Amino acid sequence: MEILGPRGTRDILPEESYLWQKVETILHQVAQQYGFSEVRLPVFEHTELFERGVGDTTDIVQKEMYTFTDRGQRSITLRPEGTAPSVRSFIEHKFYNKAQPTKWYYMGPMFRYDRPQAGRFRQFHQFGVEAFGTSDPDIDAEVIAILVRIVKTMGISQFQLHLNSVGCPDCRPLYRERLIQYLTPFESDLCADCIQRFHKNPLRILDCKSPKCQLAVKGHPVLSDYLCDRCGQHFEQVKSTLNLYGIDYELDPQLVRGLDYYTKTAFELLLPDLGAQAAIGGGGRYDGLIEECGGPPTPGIGFAIGLERLLSAAQKQNSKAWQAKSYSPIDVFVVAAEDEFIPDACVMLEGIRNSGIKADKDYLNRSLKAQMKFAGKTGARWVVVIGEEEKTSGYYILRDMKLHEQHQIPADQIVDEIKSIMVKPEEEQYAE
Ligand SMILES: [Zn+2]
Ligand SMILES: [Zn+2]
Repeated sequence: MEILGPRGTRDILPEESYLWQKVETILHQVAQQYGFSEVRLPVFEHTELFERGVGDTTDIVQKEMYTFTDRGQRSITLRPEGTAPSVRSFIEHKFYNKAQPTKWYYMGPMFRYDRPQAGRFRQFHQFGVEAFGTSDPDIDAEVIAILVRIVKTMGISQFQLHLNSVGCPDCRPLYRERLIQYLTPFESDLCADCIQRFHKNPLRILDCKSPKCQLAVKGHPVLSDYLCDRCGQHFEQVKSTLNLYGIDYELDPQLVRGLDYYTKTAFELLLPDLGAQAAIGGGGRYDGLIEECGGPPTPGIGFAIGLERLLSAAQKQNSKAWQAKSYSPIDVFVVAAEDEFIPDACVMLEGIRNSGIKADKDYLNRSLKAQMKFAGKTGARWVVVIGEEEKTSGYYILRDMKLHEQHQIPADQIVDEIKSIMVKPEEEQYAE
């Protein structure tokens, strides 16, 4: 019986994986431009980390975690997100004792037992940044600027940045009370999840996607009217630094993160063409999280972005740069017209590779004609042909498959000739 990949997983095959490498290159570059360093963390952690770090009232923890008991009877969870593991690592390696801020980024697979649907997978990929150890509002703006620069670099020009402040433990309780007061007459109209979290986590009702809840919250009191002076000033400075960076945003009072350790800045990047799943990334400040996870009180802020959605948005908005149709694994295919010239082909091949160009040859003992046909299938731009005449004269044939022309070039000049025509990958433009 054929064994298929598990539901909710997918294989990223070579005709697509090279696009992922392009995305990853951009992510590394942009994060490093802002002074962030990569941290590589395990894909599984103790379940308790996510219960504390993500919050046991969230959908992620209540419904979506891949949790199992290992052979040592420990409860283990495949990471559903990257912030809690980053916080765990920051505490475990006592980074709080070092000069701050600590600026980290990560990327890799995450796991959620979601109902699989279009564009959603149980193993999916995220990139995220976390800045620990400073409550300076300028770092909030910087983290947002990274997110914006990533989408722009990929040629995504149609997007909206939504921004809000969710206050702090000083000012939020009053708002929470007002919100409960306001929503009490509608309590029985809410969805089952919201009825359950009505008192524990009423802010989450504001961003509930259920139409019943959206109707109930219409005209709700707005958190920004309740911010304390410190939260108000912080928010003003975030906005003014975003203005300095030329980043447009829209204030969105319904953008909330309901847990107590989320504080002040919250933001989301929305794409117009993704419909109900409009947000491709978001984040915010979490000044209480590190303490919640067992570290010393340390402020922090970060965001995460889904790479499947990022790539699909780039393919929609900048199809020229991101369509997976012109991929070729090699640039040059070396053909030996007769078996006796295979050693010369090997020498040529390795010489081409020495100069950093991708090259290959036949390994199935094909005829000259079949080698040419196969070379065409690989998508190689050039074919080098070595036969009796070429061997004798020292001039090999260099065929340009794109321009459909060929020349005889001295064997030792072939590499230079190819290099002079070639566009190096790093010169490729991602954005329009
Ligand atoms: Zn406050
Ligand atoms: Zn609801």
